[in-house]
This record gives sequence, C-alpha cells and structure tokens, in this order.
Amino acid sequence: KFITLEGGDGSGKSTQSRLLADFLDESAIDCLLTREPGGAPGADEIRELILTGEPDRWDAVGETLLFYAARRNHLRLTIWPALDEGRWVISDRFSDSTMAYQGYGNHLGEEAVRKIHDFSVGDFAPDLTFIFDLPAEEGLQRTMGRTHNEDRFEKMDLDFHERLRDGFLEIARHNPDRCVLIDAMQSVDTIQQEMRAILKTRLIP
Ligand code: C5P
Repeated sequence: KFITLEGGDGSGKSTQSRLLADFLDESAIDCLLTREPGGAPGADEIRELILTGEPDRWDAVGETLLFYAARRNHLRLTIWPALDEGRWVISDRFSDSTMAYQGYGNHLGEEAVRKIHDFSVGDFAPDLTFIFDLPAEEGLQRTMGRTHNEDRFEKMDLDFHERLRDGFLEIARHNPDRCVLIDAMQSVDTIQQEMRAILKTRLIP
C-alpha cells in the first residue's frame, strides 16, 4: 500500500508520518518512510537545486519539471521497488504538493500540472492520502519560522497561502475515494489517533 501525507509547511506532516510508520512497525507491517522532494540520490540532488539559490532561478514550469524529474527518480528507485517487495510506503509529500504549490500557489494551473503528471507518473496513485488542512493565516505563520524557506520568500504572503489551501481542498474534493482531510489545528495525539483509525478501516484487513 502507498500512503501519502500532504499539506502546507509546518502542518505537522513529518511528525505524523513518523508516528504512522511506528504504528505500522508495531502492527508487524513492513514499511518504508520516505519524503519529497527527495527520497532517492538523484531526487535529493534536485531537492537542493530547487530549494537553494536565488528565488527567481526557476519559473513555475521549470520548477514543476524539476519536481517531476525528482518524483520519477523517487518512484523508479525507491517507491516502486519497495511496493514490488510487498512493503508499504509512506511518503511525506507527493504529487498533490506540486498541484497545490505550483498549480494553484504559483498559478501554473491544474491542466498544465496534470499533463506533466500524466506523462511522468501515468495512472499510478496513492491508495490513501491524508491532506493536512490549516487556515491560510496559520500556514503563513508556521512557514515564517522555517529556515529553508528563506530564499523562497516570494511565497510567504497570505494570498499564496490562501491559494495553497484552496488547492489542497480542491484536490480532496476531486478525489474523495483517495483523500481524507485532517484538521491540522488539532493536537499531535488527536491527529495520530484519527489517522490510525482511518488506516484500520480503510487499509488494514
Ligand atoms: O515538506 P518540506 O518542508 O520538506 O518541503 C520543502 C520545501 O519545498 C517547502 O518549503 C515547501 O514549501 C516547498 N515545496 C514547494 N513545492 C512543492 C513541494 C514543496 O515549493 N511541490
């Protein structure tokens, strides 16, 4: 099974992915915890390219192509081999982030991102996606505390965070079978309990 966690910066995805991986370990389910951008050597190099350097180095199209080059590498070398071995994979971010950040946040549009997605990834999709929802004001605040965003300050305005949130909510609405919305304002414990309950009803036989 392939599970993804999506949402804005500081929404708690990374903490929750680790706790979810612990839960699978305790349930004797062999699982691989990974993250994007990154998750394979080539993809990690692309992560550095995207996240460092001057803010206007890439436009939205170039950035999206880089995210997808990294994702293709991550899929081919990490995710698909693990799934083929019968392991479960939990990824902290996947395609929905590109749709929300570049498609909605950076105005590239749904259609353009979908075309790149279909070409690079095809029909492959997560079995379950948790989308961490935060009010735009809260998203903005949590982003400002993050150091690796320093050279991406063009994104740190409220309008961007509103588009980002709308993007994630739209994705959840368009994919009700795959996506579950999580209220990211709740406590770490409450969120984890909710996720485990959903996992038990949806994926664990
Ligand atoms: O989730 P993580 O903090 O590792 O993400 C790294 C950075 O990449 C974040 O600043 C996030 O805002 C950014 N990002 C992006 N577009 C994506 C995915 C992540 O701008 N599609």
